[in-house]
Amino acid sequence: MSLGFDTIVIGCGVFGLSTCIELAERGYKVLALDKYQPPSPLSAANDLNKIIRVEYPDKLSARLAVEALELWKQPPYNECFVKTGRLTLTPDDPNSNRNIYETKSSQNLEELGVRQRIKKIKSLKEIGELIPEFKNNTLPDTLNATYNYDCGTGLSGKSIKVAFSEASRLGVAFAFGDDGEVIKVDSHQVTVKSGKVYEASKVIVSAGASTVFLVPLDSQINAWGGFVAHIKLTEEEYEIYKDIPIFFSAEYGYFFPPDAETHRIKIALTTCDAFALKRIDNQDTKVPRFQTEYPDTVPKDHYNDIMKLIELVLPDLAYHKPQDFKTCWCADTSTSKFLIDECPYFEDVYVASGDSAHGFKFLPNIGKYIVDKIEGKLEPELDEVWRWKVKPEFRQTITNRQPRPNLNLAEVEFFKD
Ligand SMILES: Cc1cc2nc3c(=O)[nH]c(=O)nc-3n(C[C@H](O)[C@H](O)[C@H](O)COP(=O)(O)OP(=O)(O)OC[C@H]3O[C@@H](n4cnc5c(N)ncnc54)[C@H](O)[C@@H]3O)c2cc1C
Repeated sequence: MSLGFDTIVIGCGVFGLSTCIELAERGYKVLALDKYQPPSPLSAANDLNKIIRVEYPDKLSARLAVEALELWKQPPYNECFVKTGRLTLTPDDPNSNRNIYETKSSQNLEELGVRQRIKKIKSLKEIGELIPEFKNNTLPDTLNATYNYDCGTGLSGKSIKVAFSEASRLGVAFAFGDDGEVIKVDSHQVTVKSGKVYEASKVIVSAGASTVFLVPLDSQINAWGGFVAHIKLTEEEYEIYKDIPIFFSAEYGYFFPPDAETHRIKIALTTCDAFALKRIDNQDTKVPRFQTEYPDTVPKDHYNDIMKLIELVLPDLAYHKPQDFKTCWCADTSTSKFLIDECPYFEDVYVASGDSAHGFKFLPNIGKYIVDKIEGKLEPELDEVWRWKVKPEFRQTITNRQPRPNLNLAEVEFFKD
């Protein structure tokens, strides 16, 4: 039995490390556990880059994202933030989920008095004028687009390393491998694979998509996977394309500027979502299926979608073969709102998860709110939005996303090189 910690944090991804830092800053003695040393191959944030934006259709998230954006520009995270801008393509239909999302988001920023330079774009020619690297695009002529000059790219894997070293500097204790892989959670007690049992006054479960394995969640979280691939540019191409903005389309997918070190462009599909099923507590539960155990690539039927996006926007790069496939797993809630509350089945065990594929940008500030919750001083509005809600109806298609096929990975044929 290992005694002597105020709080145990399970999972050293975005929510976990942010919480560790805040707890340590408030003087708590913290033990953080993870199967892997950060950045873990299981973490949704362990890749090249993520979008850091402030557009949200609800005002609370917008306010938090604005706060986070300011913190990304300051140490220790400033070295992981690049102001790249983002071109967002929205479907033609003004009543599509995505268009409603964009309209509400702009209204919120206006009402919050946040000045973001967002330009509306009405023609393909205009895209080429604004972003010369996109001038050969063959996008449909009937487009709606916006260009957000202030949007940024977060160097995600790198920022997890930065948060890990910040937490270590502040005195957080860590255990990894069999001493860090949690197999059982109880009130004030955590058992890991090696058989060790750790005790603390409070336990925080922030294991991302794996949270579904560790505590009962009353169907509030489903693991959901998004497919990612990369193309590697030549030195010459990197020099030409290094300053492109993020390109985002809910219809076609999205990609990032090439990474400065590896010259790789990360491309993510939006044409399908993945799930895997496992029977937990007599119930089919949507769980992650990690590449550490399953060497999945991308579904054969959606392989062409990757290059379709590049062909449409950057045709001169379409000769590249996509590589380094990955399924990125998140913890999805029915409303895309986080779940940050005490788990009613234990004493002093808290769940901080439900990132719903948009939690990375909150690395600099989500810990503050998680610790406020634990200290019983979270502001009432956030407390209400993030509270435990028994058995919500989980919709197949999340309101904020474009409808798209959900693929059971047990039935999918994967692309083989
Ligand atoms: C395809 C995709 C695209 C995304 N794009 C964006 C974006 O552009 N912008 C944005 O803001 N967000 C984005 N996200 C979301 C972002 O990556 C997540 O919100 C964030 O990583 C969630 O943080 P987390 O701490 O909850 O989980 P994670 O970062 O996944 O971390 C979970 C941690 O728990 C550990 N763990 C798991 N099981 C155990 C166990 N049994 N014992 C101990 N430790 C364990 C893991 O090793 C891992 O380190 C995206 C997500 C996906 C899937």
